[in-house]
Amino acid sequence: MDQSRHILHFIDGEFTAAADASHFTKYSPVDGRPLAKIAEAGRADIAAAVAAARSAMRGEWGKLSIERRVDLLYGVADEITRRFDDFVAAEMADTGQPAHVIEQVFIPRGAANFKIFADVVKNVAAESFRMATPDGRGALNYAIRNPKGVIGVISPWNAPFLLMTWKVGPALACGNAVVVKPSEETPLTATLLGEVMNTVGIPKGVYNVVNGFGPNAAGEFLTRHPGVDAITFTGETRTGTAIMKAAAEGMRDVSFELGGKNAGIVFADCHFDAAVDGIFRSVFLNTGQVCLGTERVYVERPIFERFVAALKTRAEAVRYGRPEDHASTYGPLISQEHRDKVLSYYRKAIDEGATLVTGGGVPDMPAELAGGSWVQPTIWTGLPETAAVVREEIFGPCCHIRPFDSEDEVIDLANANDYGLATTIWTDNLSRAHRVAERVEVGVTWVNSWFLRDLRTPFGGSKQSGIGREGGVHSLEFYTETRNVCIKL
Ligand code: NAD
Repeated sequence: MDQSRHILHFIDGEFTAAADASHFTKYSPVDGRPLAKIAEAGRADIAAAVAAARSAMRGEWGKLSIERRVDLLYGVADEITRRFDDFVAAEMADTGQPAHVIEQVFIPRGAANFKIFADVVKNVAAESFRMATPDGRGALNYAIRNPKGVIGVISPWNAPFLLMTWKVGPALACGNAVVVKPSEETPLTATLLGEVMNTVGIPKGVYNVVNGFGPNAAGEFLTRHPGVDAITFTGETRTGTAIMKAAAEGMRDVSFELGGKNAGIVFADCHFDAAVDGIFRSVFLNTGQVCLGTERVYVERPIFERFVAALKTRAEAVRYGRPEDHASTYGPLISQEHRDKVLSYYRKAIDEGATLVTGGGVPDMPAELAGGSWVQPTIWTGLPETAAVVREEIFGPCCHIRPFDSEDEVIDLANANDYGLATTIWTDNLSRAHRVAERVEVGVTWVNSWFLRDLRTPFGGSKQSGIGREGGVHSLEFYTETRNVCIKL
């Protein structure tokens, strides 16, 4: 596959053009130049991919032992590692993010997503219950876990390979077949994974990729296809609402990892430098395009001014540049469209009366990068909690910082939001850390850390940030159907 030219669908083990030859152009976030021509799936392509997946479930794949599946998934992880440079290049081209983030986090996590769930299915135990019966002989109940069938996987653009494999790994480990619709912004690594599947010998039709857009396009056609048994989705909350309506037809199960407007809470007794570093990473990593990222920072009043000044210094020291240059620490936003959205919030913050601490616009870039979707890291103070930039997910490199005076006050502030994905708390007081962690309404709380992930733990959002939990054995709840067998003895 020549990634710089024409990206095809991957259906039934073959790279195929769209049935009606439709395609669209993907542009580089770094310089705005056309990057690739992508096949665009219509209903016929979706139907072909779903049919291939259903056929794989009826064929060899559906009959494989767990041991053989586990071997194959280890093979996928090893092959990703062997082709590490290809995956890094593809992810850099798609997202424009600096090489070091992609090399250290995004691609290794993609490979790990296959191993961890292979280990889970190999080691998980089944429950059983002996019961009494009137004749005194008794009965034995036990549970079996069957694959759900064909899983529709709809993934976003912000960490494309990590987030897509976070679903494909457990889906395949549990014995399902998948049809993946990657984000229209980032199709490269999902397509490359097709080559890996063929090399390793994953049976045809187990892993399929269809490219295209969301509403009234590939994404919606997939979620509405009756041959899809369940849908796992990561993306915006309002897209989740649309997908939930589609899934209601036929009573299909959903697992949703959605948006966030996460609070970072910094107490005066924290280790100051570690807190500045942690909050800096949580606001600006991946140019702020991380669902777990912090866009609301609450700092206890005695250290407020010092903290704002320190974060400003760090934000002004980022190094813009091409992703493959290892000196770059900061990349562009994913697209011009997303930049327009982020810049509209930058303007709104000023209209709403914010004090601009740093940033707020577009950086001066050298001519060859001027066509990229670059924005400045931005910090505001002085806004009320009712301001749009304090309430709504921006998904950009920006935060609002506000002082607080008590533990109760900051918990109320953190919870006064419709989202509930993650929180990062900075304090040296262990009792306080426990107290706050118990009362913050989120799926994931980090104390004196951020984005430290053990893949065996439950992951998901509270309130409007998601439905269900994935990770470790929790993923089995969604990717398998548990059935009871009762044997009269
Ligand atoms: P998005 O919702 O716009 O798109 C995500 C995917 O859904 C894309 O593949 C898109 O084509 C598809 N889609 C859009 N409309 C659809 C429809 N009607 N039917 C079917 N598919 C449709 O999200 P995005 O902009 O790609 O990603 C950013 C969002 O993802 C942010 O809100 C972020 O917080 C969230 N996110 C959440 C997590 C998490 O774990 N909770 C992780 C990463 C990103």
